[in-house]
Amino acid sequence: MAELINFSNISLSNTKKNSLEVADEGEDNKKTEVANKVDPAAALASARHEFGEHGGVNMSIEASVTFTVMEADTMRRLCSGELGPDEDYYIYSRQFNPTVLNLGRQMASLEGTEAAYCTASGMSAITAVLLQLVGAGGHVVASQCLYGGTHALLSRFLVHACGIKTTFVNINNIDEVRSAIRAGETKVLYVESMSNSTLVVADIPSLASVAKEKGVKLIVDNTFTPMIVSPARLGADVVVLSLSKFICGSADVIAGAICGPVSLVKSLANHQDGVLMLTGPMMNAKVAFEISERLPHLALRIKEHSARALAYATRIKRHGLNVIYLGLPNHPPSLPPFLHWQS
Ligand SMILES: *Cc1c(COP(=O)(O)O)cnc(C)c1O
Repeated sequence: MAELINFSNISLSNTKKNSLEVADEGEDNKKTEVANKVDPAAALASARHEFGEHGGVNMSIEASVTFTVMEADTMRRLCSGELGPDEDYYIYSRQFNPTVLNLGRQMASLEGTEAAYCTASGMSAITAVLLQLVGAGGHVVASQCLYGGTHALLSRFLVHACGIKTTFVNINNIDEVRSAIRAGETKVLYVESMSNSTLVVADIPSLASVAKEKGVKLIVDNTFTPMIVSPARLGADVVVLSLSKFICGSADVIAGAICGPVSLVKSLANHQDGVLMLTGPMMNAKVAFEISERLPHLALRIKEHSARALAYATRIKRHGLNVIYLGLPNHPPSLPPFLHWQS
């Protein structure tokens, strides 16, 4: 049994694709249509399950920081990148850890991306992706309605730390978004699927087509709508999440995730110039295990969260107060067509 269930099949790539996800990349409409049929809960449930080292129904926790190397030459090959997690070789958990990688594969299934890697917090996931994709002196176009920490990061910290400047726009005005993108200078379009806390919904398919047309990467923070919106299935290049909110579910763990192509995860973890590897906001393996145990219940919890939020919103509105809640009958007049998974 032990040989059958060791970690040798861990790979960076979430290779087991839901057949519905195999869409024609060239046809945006078709892709959106296909995306509408993908159930993230089903995708997560059909992801490869990792067993424990001794056959346990739960995965083992690989708590080691360093890993044993039996041959001197293996060390050289690990350092050159020739060997890595895809070949079941690990060197140091600040780069890759098998348990954290398992959670990453679950997150990739949930979000419909090729790969994912998890970080110590949502803010470290966001910061790492921005630093890696934008670089010193680069320009970002971002939604004016963002989580406070992300807004401060973009409007203050990244400006004086490394000269990254941001233009904040109304993302519901596509012309404003398009004209804020500067040729050759803008690297990233950054939005939240549903903003914290004003609940502005991003029209991801339209934003993705502007990003594609202008050659910039669309990064979507999906913290508020896991299971409800799948940004990558709608055309986002990278999905970042705080796992500290709905995904954790009990306000007891700070954690984050970056979901995107294998090439992005590899570049973030590169020995020489990877921002995660070199600045080190890694997730602890014990945290990865905790969150991994909670993912199977996420769909049920999100349905219940939605039902309760609607009940609260309805009651508050009945008291005559102003309420922003998308599920209320006349607010807004029409939901974007991709908000399909309403319970
Ligand atoms: C909380 C939050 C973050 C930051 O995540 P942490 O895990 O607290 O670092 C980022 N984006 C959104 C939308 C959030 O709600």
